[in-house]
Amino acid sequence: MSNKILAIVGRPNVGKSTFFNRLTESREAIVDEMSGVTRDRNYGKAEWNGKVFSVIDTGGYVVNSDDVFEAEINKQVHLAIDEADVILFVVDVESGITDLDDAIAAILRKSRKKIIVAVNKVDNNQRILDAQEFYGFGLGEIFCISSMTGSGTGDLLDQVIEAFDFSGEEEEEHELPYLSVVGRPNVGKSSFINTLLGEDRYIVTDVAGTTRDSIHTRFNKFGHDFVIVDTAGLRKKGKVHDDIEFYSVLRSVRTIEKSDVCMLLVDATRGMQAQDVNVFNLIVRNKKGVVILVNKWDIIEKDGYSTRKVEEQIRERIAPFTDVPILFVSAKTKQRVHKALDFAIQVYKNRKNRIKTSKLNEVLLEAVENYPPPSVKGKFIKIKYVTQLPSQTPSFALFANLPQYIKEPYRRYIENQIRANFDFKGVPIQVYFRQK
Ligand code: GDP
Ligand code: GDP
Repeated sequence: MSNKILAIVGRPNVGKSTFFNRLTESREAIVDEMSGVTRDRNYGKAEWNGKVFSVIDTGGYVVNSDDVFEAEINKQVHLAIDEADVILFVVDVESGITDLDDAIAAILRKSRKKIIVAVNKVDNNQRILDAQEFYGFGLGEIFCISSMTGSGTGDLLDQVIEAFDFSGEEEEEHELPYLSVVGRPNVGKSSFINTLLGEDRYIVTDVAGTTRDSIHTRFNKFGHDFVIVDTAGLRKKGKVHDDIEFYSVLRSVRTIEKSDVCMLLVDATRGMQAQDVNVFNLIVRNKKGVVILVNKWDIIEKDGYSTRKVEEQIRERIAPFTDVPILFVSAKTKQRVHKALDFAIQVYKNRKNRIKTSKLNEVLLEAVENYPPPSVKGKFIKIKYVTQLPSQTPSFALFANLPQYIKEPYRRYIENQIRANFDFKGVPIQVYFRQK
């Protein structure tokens, strides 16, 4: 899996989210159907000519109030320059160049990032002529597109792929578990890593693949050999934009994509909030293993039921994918930090779990017999056999005579049966129905 990031910047109403939806739609629709995960508006995966990349629509993060607009947008453009690989600057041919466009262009011109200008709403040929004024930005070639009809987007995406430079991008098969600690600012990520690894960090080596923005370090602790994927963001403490969600999402995306298992830290004093759920969804969307760690447990006043109550609240928020380990920890008192690592390693193993076809059929065909897919328009759906696909993350294909009639609730039933019979705790799994 690739971890290239395209950030879409531009002032409001130029069509950023329309373009974002077009770019991520087909793929997203599949993912949604499969995992039942709700989509958030701002982050998605896109695929063009077999190349996969992440797309972030910065627009979704702008506070919707006139006086903060310009400052806010400028801040986001700076962040996009810092964090993304390629920046797509979207402008609107209907309005022509506005002051805000000029302000954004000025920031982009000073950056050394690859910038692509998309002139949107070029729905007809006349507008191609109108679009020429955008060469005035001095940002190089412009691409005329219509996000509404899709016209021109193919050429644009060819350019995006070229700008990314995918050479040497094959995902390396890790021999060791690649773990990371993710979560919102101030949940205690740095503290947790320090507690886990101690002052006398048993650093074995720096691992190849370490780049400017991510540092992979190999450790041997508590009987486990593993790699901690750490982003520069974790180290640069007190950065001014630590509190900006867009920034933390960008950081999280990078980290998550490089990990096998993510330890998602949640602040015990706040519970699982919308932003935590967003990060959880990013992990699931990337099909990575996950362990939820409720940190700062030391400062919570406990009555006999508190863990159960908090656990329930969390499972409600992350439904339908609730087969996830939840652990109450304290980076400060070191409570269960060691155990958190054990859990993460177990999830890593679960993610590698390959079930024998014979066993899989024995279990699932019986489940199908007990509860067959409901017939549709008088047609009976027969599931003949099941196999685990040879993919990096657990995926199962069920072969049926009429797979197109099988609906989401039944897919979920099968997933639950798989989870009930085999250990995939903490691991997103895919279930497909295919024609036999
Ligand atoms: P954002 O604020 O930049 O994310 O802009 P939106 O994607 O919400 O689009 C703003 C408006 O422009 C909406 O009413 C869209 O329907 C419209 N729009 C977006 N793309 C196109 C396009 O290619 N052609 C036309 N004519 N309208 C578009
Ligand atoms: P990060 O931004 O996620 O890396 O968070 P930090 O590790 O910088 O922690 C943020 C604040 O929470 C700091 O003041 C920490 O001392 C505090 N903190 C972190 N973990 C714990 C914990 O388990 N218990 C308590 N009481 N405070 C914690």
